[in-house]
Order: sequence, then structure tokens, then C-alpha cells
Amino acid sequence: MHNNQFIERTLVILKPDAIQRSLIGEIIKRFEGLGLKFSGIKLILPTSETIERHYTVDPDWRKTTGEKAKKTKEKQGIIMEKQPEEVGEIILSSLKKFMTSGPVVVMVIEGAHAVPLVRKLVGDTEPLTSDVGTIRGDYVFDSYEMADTQERAIRNLIHASSDSDSAKKEIAIWFEEVELLKYTTAQERFIYDVEPKNILR
Ligand code: GDP
Ligand code: MG
Repeated sequence: MHNNQFIERTLVILKPDAIQRSLIGEIIKRFEGLGLKFSGIKLILPTSETIERHYTVDPDWRKTTGEKAKKTKEKQGIIMEKQPEEVGEIILSSLKKFMTSGPVVVMVIEGAHAVPLVRKLVGDTEPLTSDVGTIRGDYVFDSYEMADTQERAIRNLIHASSDSDSAKKEIAIWFEEVELLKYTTAQERFIYDVEPKNILR
């Protein structure tokens, strides 16, 4: 393993819609293309308890997500009476339903600046407005309006940790330390070594 101070790990989940749409390979390809590597990877059927633990590693998640959802509604001209915590709780229960509906692929991705790099590739939460070129922008078109009308979690294919502190907490929920392998890939020498040697003969 490289002794690089910028190397970090992030947690990625390919949600049930990604597996149903046979997009595992397409999505993984994007991370490999960037030069990131997998420390751990598995296919599992999550429980509701795990989903709740995962989304509440940030104790304020209900409140901040509820506030964000209320603001989105305001932009559509709809004023919600419910408190942010209650709105967040509704989103959490729709996530539990969605995330336990079928298998998901959970993985730990490692590399320099892995957390922000993976977020950048994944794109913003709402596929309708996430940038072209991002995973959420390129492979799905769901919107807050569509999801909220049907009272379901927005289908955006993928979860990625938002910061390194939550990444550490999320990884501990999904993986045992022994499941995370330490190894070097051939391309890391090129990505991290300043002077590649032994190319020319
Ligand atoms: P992320 O970090 O980009 O995944 O977004 P959040 O952490 O804010 O929310 C977690 C997940 O909850 C999202 O990926 C969506 O699937 C779902 N979600 C978040 N906000 C809303 C919302 O306002 N409405 C609906 N229907 N789903 C939401
Ligand atoms: Mg999040």
C-alpha cells in the first residue's frame, strides 16, 4: 500500500435499481477508469435496521434532509406544514422500503481523495438536475416531483459517502475489517509515483 497522506476510503452502494437494470458493470467501470480500486465488494440483501443505521450516522440527517426537501417543495410553490424531522423520517422510511426491496452491491473504494472524487462521478441527488457525465445524470432520469408524487425514495442508482468522517462510520456498518483487503494495483505506480521507472529498455 502506498504511504500517501491523501489516500482515503469511501463507501458506495449500488442501489436495487442499479442491479435490476444490469448497470453494475457500467458503474464500476467509471471508478476503475479513474484509477480508484476496491478494498471490499459484495452483493447483499440489506435489512431495514442496517439502512436506518447507515442513513443516521449523521444524527442530523432527518432534519437536514427534511429541510432540503421542504425547500425543494417551496421552489415548486408548495408549502409543507410538517416539521423537517418529520419530513426526513418519511424519506427514511421510503428509503428502507426501497433499499430492502432487492439485492444491492456494497463496496469500499480507495484512492487519493476518494471521497470527493466518487461524489463528483456520482453527481447530485436528483437525476433530473445532476450533470451530464455523472452516473446519476447519465443512467437515470427520476425527479423529486415524480418520487414525491408516488411517495417513494428518489431512484438514483447509487449511494456514496459525503465526507470522510461519515465514510469511516458507514464502512464500519457494512464491512468487517478483515473483509477489506490491502493490496497494490499495477496502475498505482503510475498514478502516485512521481518518476515512473523501468519503462524504457
Ligand atoms: P445523497 O447523499 O445524494 O444520496 O442524498 P441524501 O443523503 O440527501 O438522501 C439520501 C437518499 O434519500 C437520496 O439518494 C434519495 O434516494 C432519497 N431522497 C433524498 N431527498 C429526497 C426527497 O426530497 N424526496 C425523495 N422522494 N427522496 C429523497
Ligand atoms: Mg447522503
